[in-house]
Amino acid sequence: MSTFFWLPADYNVKSFNKHAALDLVRFSGVGLSRTDLADKMGLTRAAVSLIVNDLLESQVIQEAASRSTPSGRPPIILEINPTRGLVGAIDMGATHLSIALADFTARIHYESEFPFDIKDGPETCIEEADQKLRNILSELGLSLSDLSAIGIGVPGPVITEAGMVIAPPIMPGWDHFPIRETLEEKWICPVTLNNDAELGALGEWAYGAGRGQKNIAYIKIGSGIGAGLVLNQQIYGGTTGAAGEIGHLTIDENGPLCNCGNHGCLEAFAGGHAIALQGQALAKSGKRTLLSDIPTEKITALTVTEAARHGDLHAQEILRRAGTSIGIAIAGLINLFNPSVVIIGGGVSQIGDTLTNPIRQAVRERAMRASEQSVRITTGMLGRRSLLIGATVQAINVAIHDAAENKNSSPKTSVLETFGAN
Ligand SMILES: [Zn+2]
Repeated sequence: MSTFFWLPADYNVKSFNKHAALDLVRFSGVGLSRTDLADKMGLTRAAVSLIVNDLLESQVIQEAASRSTPSGRPPIILEINPTRGLVGAIDMGATHLSIALADFTARIHYESEFPFDIKDGPETCIEEADQKLRNILSELGLSLSDLSAIGIGVPGPVITEAGMVIAPPIMPGWDHFPIRETLEEKWICPVTLNNDAELGALGEWAYGAGRGQKNIAYIKIGSGIGAGLVLNQQIYGGTTGAAGEIGHLTIDENGPLCNCGNHGCLEAFAGGHAIALQGQALAKSGKRTLLSDIPTEKITALTVTEAARHGDLHAQEILRRAGTSIGIAIAGLINLFNPSVVIIGGGVSQIGDTLTNPIRQAVRERAMRASEQSVRITTGMLGRRSLLIGATVQAINVAIHDAAENKNSSPKTSVLETFGAN
């Protein structure tokens, strides 16, 4: 029996099969017939019919004709009813704030991005996110009460149960701040809080490069470096939710100082911030480099990448070394978790082959053959959207299972009409 069960575990055992069936339909990609469901769940057709009727009555799923039409009567396919509700997704990055609105199939109907500084601290940042979200909703003629749930991502170690981050290296002032509680009070709807790399993993697992896989790792390479793990088709958060801090694996104990206070972490060698620092040092070194024409303070990971692309050998060397360091850490992760796919995402991953080739080479050289032969290393399919889609998936987890239990709550058909959806 292979089932998902994504909702927070506060529903009773009696309705377990109903929620598992709902998740199977949700993550199937093209929908499932009643027979498919019976096969996957090891239940009789009669038992599945009861469950399906219940889900149809609460309008979280709907019937559709099969898209493939073999000879004879096409089977009825069960799929998620997109108009059952609307959720919000917010990605608070180190330097950007992205906000999206999506239906229950995780289709994004609205999306925008604003400049942002997570270092401004929780009060200012939360106020900003709140204002932006309210403005967007009011421009669309909607209000907060039209949202069934909101999913949030932050670039720090999230303690899931508490809805807060603990000692986040790049989020000064946020330590132990009650993020989820504050937002739930403001927005009066369920709010989920996750680490950004975790959401990248979830987004790519549900709708991208990791679809249909049991075990995947998503490596987010931005200013910092983090990993999200989906193991056995569930987010793996560890004991408190803080798992996946691959950026703080020690590569060299005598290496450069890291944001976390230690020396020689992966992030201090290969994060976007570290690449920028190395580019600045190169510019001042007197070596022949395109970077010497640029004011030092303007040199970022992106400028180093541009120089590398224009044939700057020293800039290429910086990226090659960063890729090797990331590859060494990923080889360790592959040895520990034996995933089938490792997805490279985040802003710095846009660099392309100059970064991914040395990553692949380090993995070939260092990961154990038994794991290495079966792993695919790829860039994300959802690009910059993987985190937002992950946040959407988390919000829907709460909203859709809730809707399945509350047949009287009405579908938001009119809300979706705002976007011109059927
Ligand atoms: Zn560190």
